[in-house]
Amino acid sequence: MNLIYSASKLQDFLDCERKFELKHLLRRECPAIISEPAHLVETRAELGRRFHFLTHQLFCGVPASAIFTQIKDDTLKSWFDAFLNFFPSLKGKPRFSEFLLLSRINNRSIITVFDFMQLSDNKFIQIFDWKTGPYLPSQKSAAKKIQTILYPIAVWISKENLFSHDGSRLQPLVKMCYWYPQFPDGTIEFVADQEKIQNNIDHIGQLIERIESTKIGAFRQTDNIKQCGYCLYRSICDRGKIAGKMEFKDSEDSGVFEVDFDQLTEISIEEGLHGMD
Ligand code: SF4
Repeated sequence: MNLIYSASKLQDFLDCERKFELKHLLRRECPAIISEPAHLVETRAELGRRFHFLTHQLFCGVPASAIFTQIKDDTLKSWFDAFLNFFPSLKGKPRFSEFLLLSRINNRSIITVFDFMQLSDNKFIQIFDWKTGPYLPSQKSAAKKIQTILYPIAVWISKENLFSHDGSRLQPLVKMCYWYPQFPDGTIEFVADQEKIQNNIDHIGQLIERIESTKIGAFRQTDNIKQCGYCLYRSICDRGKIAGKMEFKDSEDSGVFEVDFDQLTEISIEEGLHGMD
């Protein structure tokens, strides 16, 4: 299987094997609406994309006042305002914003897109991901996301290239932080030491093996029927015609599948790279 893997692809497989098959192996297009009301989902996703762009401008040195003049939307203004309060805490060097990394895990290509990463003063790698969804997940829920596992591995594997002049002095751990402009005090953090990173490399390797040993037609449909209401392929799977209602709760607590707005942002980057698969 000649596939470039990513967090969103692997997450699709964990959410529903059949969705992974339809979307990434068979590349089936389907016009179903992802969630109702559709315009709210699209508006939210667009705000997320713009927020990521604004933070990137700031890291590139554009003055905050000049960025503010571009913002017309009140929600985006409040998010960027919260980010400006958070921004001074990001002092590490070197630093990377909106950084696309292609790495190899178990001889497979993996793409990761980092919102921000830096080498902290204490010489450990810190990854930040801006999450613009409308709810704050629990630590337990965020821990289960494949992004939490995959991103620290990808950056650790590439550490010599990314932090070459500091490579020998790096602390053997990676911190992964999710920061929410709507909940600026609710940062969720995970620390992976070398043992955990190795365990996670094994875990990702096993997941890829599972994918690659499954034959077309044998990818199973999810048992979580609620998830189908948010899926573009529900008509193909005969899992209903009506889109699910957008929920503003943590899926771990509510048992309801959620739209990941920042995953939508990453997927749009990934789609531009489809030709590399
Ligand atoms: S409709 Fe349901 S079963 Fe079909 S691909 Fe989507 S999530 Fe999976």
